[in-house]
Amino acid sequence: MVKTFTSLSFKLGLAIFLIASVLLSSLEIFYMRGFFGEIDDRLALKAEIPGRLMNQQAIPYSIVRNRAALSRLVGEEIVYAAVTQPNGVVFYCDQPEHEGQPYSEIDPDHVIGEEDVARVVGVREDGRNLLLITTPLYSDGQWLGALRFKMGTGNAGLQKRRYAIGFVGGGIAGILLITLAAVLLAKKLTVPRFNDILRCLSAVEKGDFSVARPRAESLDELGELGRGVNRMIDRLARQRDEQEQLKLELQTAKDDAEKASHAKSEFLANMSHEIRTPMNGVLGMAQLMKDTELSKEQREYVQTISSSADNLLKIINNILDLSRVEMGKFLPNIAPVDLRKLMEELNVFFAPAVKEKGLELRIDCPADLPLIRADEGGLRQILINLMANAIKFTQNGRVELGVQCLEKNGNERVLGFRVRDTGIGIDNDALELIFNEFTQADGSHTREFGGSGLGLAISKKMVEQLGGKLSVASELGVGSEFGFNITVNVEEAPAAPSIATGDASEEEALGLKVLVVEDNKLNQRVIVKILEKMGCEVQLAENGKEGLSALKLTSPPEERPYFDIVLMDIQMPVLDGLRATAMIRAQEGDGRRVPIIAITAHAMKGDREKFLEEGMDGYLSKPVRREDLRDVLKQYR
Ligand code: ADP
Repeated sequence: MVKTFTSLSFKLGLAIFLIASVLLSSLEIFYMRGFFGEIDDRLALKAEIPGRLMNQQAIPYSIVRNRAALSRLVGEEIVYAAVTQPNGVVFYCDQPEHEGQPYSEIDPDHVIGEEDVARVVGVREDGRNLLLITTPLYSDGQWLGALRFKMGTGNAGLQKRRYAIGFVGGGIAGILLITLAAVLLAKKLTVPRFNDILRCLSAVEKGDFSVARPRAESLDELGELGRGVNRMIDRLARQRDEQEQLKLELQTAKDDAEKASHAKSEFLANMSHEIRTPMNGVLGMAQLMKDTELSKEQREYVQTISSSADNLLKIINNILDLSRVEMGKFLPNIAPVDLRKLMEELNVFFAPAVKEKGLELRIDCPADLPLIRADEGGLRQILINLMANAIKFTQNGRVELGVQCLEKNGNERVLGFRVRDTGIGIDNDALELIFNEFTQADGSHTREFGGSGLGLAISKKMVEQLGGKLSVASELGVGSEFGFNITVNVEEAPAAPSIATGDASEEEALGLKVLVVEDNKLNQRVIVKILEKMGCEVQLAENGKEGLSALKLTSPPEERPYFDIVLMDIQMPVLDGLRATAMIRAQEGDGRRVPIIAITAHAMKGDREKFLEEGMDGYLSKPVRREDLRDVLKQYR
């Protein structure tokens, strides 16, 4: 309904109706006035007839006494008729009692001056409109008096009414007909073309540019509109094609970039394997060598080999960490964390370096800090990076590590970590840049302090993964402060007691029987030596296949050799560690499940899950640190 009233045809119809009404009404009024004038003229002519006939002596003056005859003569009802003498005295009258009386006394309102002038005057009597007609009477050119009569206008009025009804009726019918015809015509001419354009626009709105274009040949406004719409559709279609093309190019560029990034990470993984394996040998051997009888000079050489290899390994680890974080493979592993224990570990870890440089190390950790849920590995790595820098760039004074609870909110805590030093500080201009990869505040530091410029970039990204933001404040020559806040939940379970550390356990013989499955001769020697030093009995296998044979899982359980644990390399010829583990698990059936620990240079995130999925029980990254290996072995004693 509303649509009908708001439609263009309705508005058009209304406009045409109004225009037609004004025009036709004006025309009708004009013509009606003409017709009415004619009726009045004809009435006046009729009114002259009795006087004219009397003057021609065709009818006698006394006819005024017969109103009916007079009425027939003029075709209207005669209400009063009289013939007066020049002195105004009534001579004949339809009312005989008026004869002989002055007319001015009979009808004082309607005495109209001289009686020798013909007049027609409209009068109103008893609610009726009458005409008072006065005609001078002559005979042989001599004025004899006047004929006066009052005549009704009923017939003329009736005629006028009939005309008026005809005019108004015809006019209304005409207006309606004109409006209808105009609306129908306009509809026929415009609506299909509008609909054509609307259909097209609605298809384009839905993204269909293949829709048939609206007709646009005519030169009128609708034709112009159609041509405009067509031009717009063409332009939109062109733009969409260009966008599609751009999207395609972007997608290709993205794919290429992803491929390149993937190739980079693969390259890093391979490089890490290639570099870490020999590094394992170098570090392991250097470590073993330290335990042998050495001269002072030899000990210094070994120490240099050891620290150089350590530095190289740190750089490799940094590059790997960065690629892991960049590839989104650093996924925070949320678990209960005892921050006091972590701080204690860091204290122990950095104590030798701090002591060596003659610095003071302050660790500030409130005693009431609850057990929290966080990514311990990530936190440790960030704090180690910041602490290592603080120690590296401080020649004298103090290095402080502090953690504080800034906000408590139900089970949530906002913790603030700060690493402060009294070192060389950082130039204001450099502050912005130090979080970029491979960037150092001063190129000369590289030579003085060493480093790769990756630590802060990794730490920044890791802090972001933990939901915080790494910030720095520093003054050149005064010191620096690095800090970040993270929001964590409190762990309800009580804190596990700290692991006892100390040299006492170093000497403890583990007495385990270990099967080492490793193809690299150098690594074999290192690991066998370490294990033997821990008081373990070791059997070697060159690859997965040999490892399987050593376990003799196809023999009855009582004939199988006993191993407390299997240390399994992953990349090996003939049968690799993963497939060998899968076969061991399949062949063990319901029998004893021997613990298998992966030892690999494949240190990418996600590997651990893969190893566990294949049936392994743990994972040690190459180069294997003696303490880590001992920790793992102690679990299977
Ligand atoms: P690296 O220490 O391996 O060079 P980082 O990314 O850890 O790489 O640090 C980048 C640079 O930021 C450093 O080379 C050094 O110039 C500056 N920097 C970082 N920490 C400190 C600090 N505590 N004091 C002074 N300068 C620092």
